Amino acid sequence: MSFSALGLSEPLLRAIAARNYPAPTPIQTLAIPAVLRGQDVQASAQTGSGKTAAFALPMLQLLAAAPRERGRLVRALILVPTRELAAQIGESIRLYARFLPTPVKTLTVYGGVSINPQMMALGGGADVIVATPGRLLDLIDHNAVSLAAVSLLVLDEADRMFSLGFTDELNRLLALLPRRRQNLLFSATFPSAVQALADSLLRDPVRLDVPAAPATQPDIVQRAIEVDPPRRTQLLRHLIETHQWTRVLVFVATKYATEHVAEKLRKAGIDATALHGELSQGARTQALADFKAGRVRVLLATDVAARGLDIVQLPVVVNFDLPRSAVDYTHRIGRTGRAGESGTAVNFISAATHAHFALIEKRHRLNLPREQIEGFAPVETMVDVPPSPGGIKGRRKSKKDKLREAAARRAGQ
Ligand code: AMP
Repeated sequence: MSFSALGLSEPLLRAIAARNYPAPTPIQTLAIPAVLRGQDVQASAQTGSGKTAAFALPMLQLLAAAPRERGRLVRALILVPTRELAAQIGESIRLYARFLPTPVKTLTVYGGVSINPQMMALGGGADVIVATPGRLLDLIDHNAVSLAAVSLLVLDEADRMFSLGFTDELNRLLALLPRRRQNLLFSATFPSAVQALADSLLRDPVRLDVPAAPATQPDIVQRAIEVDPPRRTQLLRHLIETHQWTRVLVFVATKYATEHVAEKLRKAGIDATALHGELSQGARTQALADFKAGRVRVLLATDVAARGLDIVQLPVVVNFDLPRSAVDYTHRIGRTGRAGESGTAVNFISAATHAHFALIEKRHRLNLPREQIEGFAPVETMVDVPPSPGGIKGRRKSKKDKLREAAARRAGQ
């Protein structure tokens, strides 16, 4: 199957060629014709499946077919759970739209940065807005934008939207949209709350299920290495050096750990930087840009900070601290092995966390051999104790964590 067989226009095909995509991914093959026909779509697709292009390309074609009228109106709305994802999608759309004969005005709005420039940019409306729910509501409250003319709605990572507690914001936004419109809903998983939303939102949708979850994709090698917690940084260093890893995303449990481990690696001569939710947006963008450009070799991140990151050619992800849930595991390791590239996901397992990891494995029907690396064999014994109810050892749950967990339980995850 080729992109041109999917009914895309010449300017879009040029943009695809400029990005060097060899052929459409399965989700693109299935979704693009359906969206072009004006149908609603419910797609279960993982990050890395090429889902952004699956909705963005046909969306641009539909928008380009009818020019925009002026005003504060918005024609297509893409709702996403995180600012990084919003920024990434906005960037992709701009690249896909670059050869269209009439410009498609695309704006990205998210919280954590000053609202004024976003208000200014919205003057005269926009063809496409990529937004996180909270900031979009703020802008609507400021009369900076109207959703009354939205003809296409995309909900991306809908499961994340729920597990991050955006339910109320989402409902408020949906109530502001016109009744007649096309809806596309993408989600990695479909817990009951997401399915209920899909059922209420979608009219006679095309249902697409692209199997191959990153957790089960054969091109991601998953490893479980036993190590005592105090020796993890040294082991990480050892692995980076022996495997000559050039770009590694390392997940840790706390903001403190991102800084602490990054500093230890830097002292050992390995360029490393921290990415966590309390950095300013400018610092986060910089950290990410440095990592993407290869100026830093190791990015230490918390789950929240790393959500939705799209870093092409990310060969290795390390779970220095294990994720809390099987769903988070999928999201984390989906950072590598994207769109057909191969990748490695390494898990550090200790006496305190090995029962927790066994649960994650059970959910993913995995049974990874436990490895020990010479010089790093643990002295603590691995016994089969149930995981502590507090989740990862050494990390107390914040109020926000508890709220999120409650939301996730309600969502049936
Ligand atoms: P996504 O799942 O939308 O986050 O996309 C994951 C990555 O795959 C992004 O870096 C895209 O640029 C890339 N990508 C999207 N479509 C294709 C394709 N057909 N062939 C190769 N790479 C692609």
